[in-house]
Amino acid sequence: MTDLILLHPPCVYDFRKNSIFFGPISDIIPSTPVFEMYPLGFVSLSQYLNKHGYDVRIINVAYKMLSSPRYDAEKEIKNLNAFAFGIDLHWLPHAQGSLELAKIVKKHHQTPVIFGGLSSTYFHEELIKYPQVDFVIRGESAEVPLLHLLSVLQNKKDFSSIPNLTYKQDGQVKINQMSYVPEDLNEFTIDYAHIIKSAIKHRDFSGYVPFSDWQNYPITAIFTCRGCTYNCRTCGGSKEAYQKFCGRRKPAYRDPELVASDVYSISKYFKGPIFVLGDIFQPGEKYAQTLLDSLKKQ
Ligand code: SF4
Repeated sequence: MTDLILLHPPCVYDFRKNSIFFGPISDIIPSTPVFEMYPLGFVSLSQYLNKHGYDVRIINVAYKMLSSPRYDAEKEIKNLNAFAFGIDLHWLPHAQGSLELAKIVKKHHQTPVIFGGLSSTYFHEELIKYPQVDFVIRGESAEVPLLHLLSVLQNKKDFSSIPNLTYKQDGQVKINQMSYVPEDLNEFTIDYAHIIKSAIKHRDFSGYVPFSDWQNYPITAIFTCRGCTYNCRTCGGSKEAYQKFCGRRKPAYRDPELVASDVYSISKYFKGPIFVLGDIFQPGEKYAQTLLDSLKKQ
């Protein structure tokens, strides 16, 4: 049995049966309008939980549905054997797709369904009312609360001590404090070697493909920060938004030397471009200079 299976939904389930005008919803990411790219957080979650002894599998259901008209998502989900399922609702276009996928999971399994991501954080009180959603982990750093939740679920203990968790108990919605907001990101690695090993272990390469056409354009990404110092009016990831919904008062950065070593580690496996997320000058010129110097040394 796999401890946790992370499922990435298409934005609309089932886009193959319904004709939909999606509009410009995925123009800034390398993905089709089905929004088959899964959040980078899946990689860091999988790596972090694996480091703590949990077997985690990622299945990009959206990509599989897109790449093969014969792929039967419900059949695959029915045949899975997991202790818990995680579904991302990070980008809002996945609102319908994520809830439909959760419905399918609940139709075939009595296992907990956990939601997470920025949109889940914003809409946690609405989401938890759905019968197919058991838990919502709020905030932009789900690694530690999710580790805590899996341990509590396995040991049948009390959920009230788990930070950033929204859950149901005896028909009542419970909202735990947003008490876990990491100061830095040095614990969380975007380790693509782990992803390759996981794909081999679970014998499911297509479940790990980040987006359609990735084989021809193998772009990868790493992050330097979570949070922002600016307040652009249209941005859900602005300083104020992070403060209000994720409890983050200032951005958390990954040490520049670690970012450089992430870049080096990716370059050993892939020959495509590496997207470094975050303005490297935001934490100051020294950060940017150290990162650039470390990259030169690698
Ligand atoms: S992440 Fe920061 S800089 Fe970028 S759009 Fe949002 S508020 Fe503006």
